[in-house]
Amino acid sequence: MPTMSRFAVISDIHGNLHALQAVLARINQLDVDDIICLGDIVGYGPLPDRCIDLVMRCCCLTVRGNHDDAVINPKRELEFNGAARQAVIWTRRVLGPLHMDALCRLKAIDYPHESVMCVHDSPVPGPTDYIYDARIAAHAFMGVERPICLVGHTHVPMVFEGPAATGGSSLTSREVVAYMPRDGVSIPLDHQRRYICNPGSVGQPRDADPRASFAVLDLAHGTFTVHREDYDIVAAQLATEKAGLPTILAQRLAIGA
Ligand code: ZN
Repeated sequence: MPTMSRFAVISDIHGNLHALQAVLARINQLDVDDIICLGDIVGYGPLPDRCIDLVMRCCCLTVRGNHDDAVINPKRELEFNGAARQAVIWTRRVLGPLHMDALCRLKAIDYPHESVMCVHDSPVPGPTDYIYDARIAAHAFMGVERPICLVGHTHVPMVFEGPAATGGSSLTSREVVAYMPRDGVSIPLDHQRRYICNPGSVGQPRDADPRASFAVLDLAHGTFTVHREDYDIVAAQLATEKAGLPTILAQRLAIGA
């Protein structure tokens, strides 16, 4: 059997079924072997149960995000701000036992391939777990134990490239190259280097582009390609308001913030 080498990578769906369906339809046309989910299936958005069902059906591997974790561990909701915390409490109330159990069974770290590790936020847990610049990525590379580390969490698509081995010590930010991926433009992955790759967010992009974001990791060709997909934002906003979730969570979808 040939080994899997072409993966779609999705993350931070956040209960936005409209965005998830649009992304899965697009992935269907991209000839991938399998789909990896980097967590935060729920939180913020109005259709967490439907999103869990789809992710469980479509993805070969899913790691647990901080919102998924806060829904099943009430103590962790204290780490969230107003609207995010309200959404976590709302999500816990509407999910049935089977969906709660599905979140409980997600691992914090997983390996879909010998060259790839997956975590939701950072391979080095702690207060600097939002990897949004070269300085934080330099620290995070200490925990990267495979050539490619897939992360989500920031809701901003990014690729960080570092030297093959750190010798256990932290890199400096000057040793890290940061790429801002553009829609459909492949970033080459050199097998002599290591990478931290973030596909952006399906359900709540925060890079001022409101389109859903995901990526294709092609190990045979050595590329990471971010794709942006239009979806029915107005329908997602109406569903958010109908659920009684904070208005800001509907508004921000239109501006990608
Ligand atoms: Zn998230």
